[in-house]
Amino acid sequence: MITITGKTNLVGLLGEPVNHSLSPVMHNAAYEEMGLDWCYIPIPCNKTNLEKVTTALRVINFKGLNVTIPHKQEVLKACSKLTSVANAIQAVNTLIPDTNNKWIGANTDVEGFIMPLKNKNLSNKNVVVIGCGGSARAVVMGLNNLNVKKITIIGRNDNSLNNFIKNMKKLSTKKQISIEAINNKKLDVTTYIEEADLIVNTTPIGMNRKNIENENIPLGNRIWENLSNKTILYDLIYTPRPTNWLKLGQEKNCFIIDGLDMLVEQGALSIKLWSGFNEIPTQIMKSSAKKHLMV
Ligand code: NAP
Repeated sequence: MITITGKTNLVGLLGEPVNHSLSPVMHNAAYEEMGLDWCYIPIPCNKTNLEKVTTALRVINFKGLNVTIPHKQEVLKACSKLTSVANAIQAVNTLIPDTNNKWIGANTDVEGFIMPLKNKNLSNKNVVVIGCGGSARAVVMGLNNLNVKKITIIGRNDNSLNNFIKNMKKLSTKKQISIEAINNKKLDVTTYIEEADLIVNTTPIGMNRKNIENENIPLGNRIWENLSNKTILYDLIYTPRPTNWLKLGQEKNCFIIDGLDMLVEQGALSIKLWSGFNEIPTQIMKSSAKKHLMV
């Protein structure tokens, strides 16, 4: 149990919604273990108030903020500086206090995403990314760092896909990684799925088990019929754990990865940036998050 005193430092999560987030549980468990007199709180904030809220929290000396859906791109306006990673993908999930009441924007999702793939050799492999929103930017940057051969982005609308590709091509051409976007409402993507070494789901499809079965699986059920057992399935979703899509992968004997390790790792990297500590108790963070998921 955290005791808040007059000296307690405050950190938190800005987003909408934030009421289902595991971050407060996970962060507060880490601070307790580290002996830090810090408290992490969820801060619901809509787009209209984002600028006012980030300014006010800096003025009252918050030690750091995480930023989640839907503000990861909009919050760039509140930053006086960006780290090179945040600048490359134009997305921020961590705000670090700067001088003169300003914030520095950083992105720890990229490293968080890579962590569970560290011992997989993905150089020269084909990767399919489903979805082209905020987290897909971090995923593509991460894949870039892993030197994959080809990234195929599958999305449902041309505008989002075109915007995404325009931004991300700058990254991949530096490394000569081929990147292409495909609208699955217009083209059959079966071959891409069958030939992929790794498939990453960055859409929220699967977060709600109440949906009818076919709607609960990215791209629908049928496309996965010929999924190879050599394909790794990585779902950024961490609740439910596993998602129906990952269960389907298990049935096909695929190696599966859910979003919990990424969540823990990106959180731990934020704590490093705010506190300057190098050792972060990631196992405690993960076990507190898992315990909370079971409640
Ligand atoms: P986002 O920016 O809103 O992007 C969502 C993407 O999914 C968009 O490309 C959107 O397409 C697509 N999409 C949404 N609903 C769809 C549907 N019914 N059918 C087809 N495509 C659909 O969200 P985000 O920030 O990237 O987050 C996405 C998911 O990743 C969330 O579930 C989030 O919890 C998870 N996440 C996990 C972690 C972690 O640490 N594990 C970190 C970040 C995010 P349109 O552009 O056409 O709308």
